[in-house]
Amino acid sequence: MSTFSFEMYPPRSTAAALAMGKTIDQLVETGPEFISVTYGASGSTRDASLDVLRHLMSTTVAPMAHLTCIGWTYQDATAVIREFLDAGITNFLAIRGDPPEGQSEGDDFLGDLKSAGELVQLIQMVQSEREPFAQLDVPGFPGSKRIARGAKVTIGVAAFPNGHPRSRSVQQDLDTLLAKQAAGANLAITQLFFHADEYLRFVDVARAAGVTMRILPGIMPVVSPARLKRMIELIDETMPTDLLARLVTAETPERQYAVGIEHTARLGEELIAGGATGLHLYTYNQHKAVLDVLRAVGILTTNQTREHV
Ligand code: FAD
Repeated sequence: MSTFSFEMYPPRSTAAALAMGKTIDQLVETGPEFISVTYGASGSTRDASLDVLRHLMSTTVAPMAHLTCIGWTYQDATAVIREFLDAGITNFLAIRGDPPEGQSEGDDFLGDLKSAGELVQLIQMVQSEREPFAQLDVPGFPGSKRIARGAKVTIGVAAFPNGHPRSRSVQQDLDTLLAKQAAGANLAITQLFFHADEYLRFVDVARAAGVTMRILPGIMPVVSPARLKRMIELIDETMPTDLLARLVTAETPERQYAVGIEHTARLGEELIAGGATGLHLYTYNQHKAVLDVLRAVGILTTNQTREHV
């Protein structure tokens, strides 16, 4: 059975926060595995991210908190991780973070934590110090407790099917992913990509190199040429010229929307047929396009209830 999950970013205004509440309701109703919430590289969205995560905790869906390494001392990072754990969050996506505005890759914008792998290690450490063991009920012996290992948290990390833009080789990407796995990561979510073979090839190479954690494909319905150009610029990837040509030729916004949904639905089908255990959808804080994709793939029925695939 294939799962699905969503990514959202914290709202930047009161109006956006109101609209987001409605979007979350629509997404939650479909029963996703989790909804992840991004984190501003410099920690600028800390409160807004935590508000969205807290709101998600009042729903039936598990929230996943993105955390970045940018600008933290060990003490700061430890405090934020503890704050998130105290709020009840047990799913994290540990990433290095994009350079803050006005700074670039070569600049020294990182703090004490130099890579996502170090952040993974710190989350593990804070969690195991907080909850070294758990007390579980003993069936048939009311009031008795047995000691078990403390609750494990999910620690996801980023993976790059087409290579990280600053990576010097495929081997460097694999080594980075293996280091994150060795540090305790138990889930990888990929950067956006537009063709199934990019993901499927990457998973084959990663498995051969020893990556055993689940690798969820991250996909996004891009429904206009302008949005596609902006996304490619943001993630520093190669333009999928076939999709761009189809979007440009479609001319009207309605036809462009249909092209974007059809492309992403076909991608989703090919990924599942190729063995992906789920689809992680970048929502751009809008529910319609991602839900249309899931319906076209057959994961959701027309009235949004979940189908088993
Ligand atoms: P790392 O794993 O630390 O790797 C970064 C680069 O450094 C890679 O080239 C790697 O090869 C290299 N590297 C790492 N360790 C070493 C080492 N020891 N020696 C040599 N080279 C090394 N950004 C945000 O700001 N906020 C978000 O919420 C956010 N969410 C994201 C979600 C997903 C699913 C993805 C794919 C990306 C997200 N990003 C986010 C963007 C991310 O921060 C950038 O892509 C960043 O450039 C890389 O992050 P990373 O976690 O892969 O870094």
